[in-house]
Amino acid sequence: MQSNALSASAATVGRRNLIGLSTKELEAFFRDLGEKPFRARQLLAWVYRRHAVDFDGMTDISLSLRQRLAQIATLELPTVVADRCSADGTRKWLVDIGGGQAVECVYIPEPNRATLCISSQAGCAMDCSFCATGQQGFNRNLDAAEILGQVLLAQRALGPDVALTNIVFMGMGEPLANYRNVIPVVSLLTDDYAFGLSRRRVTISTAGLVPQIRKLSEDCNVALAVSLHAANDQLRDQLVPINRRHPIAELLEACWHYAQCLASRQITFEYAMLRDVNDSIADARALARLLRDRPAKVNLIPFNPFPGTRYACSSADVMDAFCTELWNRGVVATIRRTRGEDIAAACGQLAGQIRDRTISRLGSKHSRAAHS
Ligand code: SAH
Repeated sequence: MQSNALSASAATVGRRNLIGLSTKELEAFFRDLGEKPFRARQLLAWVYRRHAVDFDGMTDISLSLRQRLAQIATLELPTVVADRCSADGTRKWLVDIGGGQAVECVYIPEPNRATLCISSQAGCAMDCSFCATGQQGFNRNLDAAEILGQVLLAQRALGPDVALTNIVFMGMGEPLANYRNVIPVVSLLTDDYAFGLSRRRVTISTAGLVPQIRKLSEDCNVALAVSLHAANDQLRDQLVPINRRHPIAELLEACWHYAQCLASRQITFEYAMLRDVNDSIADARALARLLRDRPAKVNLIPFNPFPGTRYACSSADVMDAFCTELWNRGVVATIRRTRGEDIAAACGQLAGQIRDRTISRLGSKHSRAAHS
């Protein structure tokens, strides 16, 4: 695998990778070649709808232009270094992003949906105490080609019989901390000439970056999931350290504003069930007080353990009682079925291979959390 990756990049040195370029950027690219801007639309359709792997087969583009493109441009995807299938049909790819690092993306088949969970950063700086990715530290943002490359390589691996119906930014990283690269990816996912998914089928999940949630409502109205995990600031400060900067009241205000822009759509609140930490009936009542009569639904996530964690998952009975309490108090809630646990592909278990750059700069992990 390593030598393939090296030879692929050696062969493409100096050529421009067209994966991840926005419609505008592609139009400018073709204009610079003396071509009409509509070539951009043709290329988008070939890459994202017909899954072309090179320029050869793009038959509505003249042979001379195809040959020129092959000389100056590429359609390069990141390299897959591992591909694992779970007994339940979940499939996980480890994707090389260079510098000895790799990120993960996960395919989750369901009867009516084919969801891909993608990563937006190498590691994560949010430092949530119950998340495997957060415990590894942070290295860098992925660029648009690396994020979208995950979708294309999964689609290629799954073959023409599987059409991805939903994309969720719930893999490694905090998508709203990589706003600059995530927004162009969302545009291509929802552009009719490119992937053409409906906005409600693309979900951004965030630990709670309030300014970016506000900006998102102006830039793109995709579905929003918010990792709440606690109904009071004291506990949320411990579980999701970004809460120290943007406490619950401020976060929820931004959420209700976002929901207004969504025209009757709800915000999903994710809540990992941590035994004896946030799973009491009093916690459920406090959560219901925050969310009742609001455009909200709760997704209870059974905590997925990972090596070295101090947390355990609540029992099934406790999760059921918590869920029932929410319903009784007028809040819609579901318990997420855990998928891909046998291949460490479940929520919060994605780890990839990350070289943490933050510990050496800021001292201990603890001080990083305090600075975040
Ligand atoms: N940074 C984004 C995406 C993170 S992963 C965010 O914070 O929303 C998607 C979801 O999995 C988040 O709600 C996250 O809090 C949750 N999660 C993280 N670790 C988990 C674990 N070990 N068990 C269950 N859920 C977890």
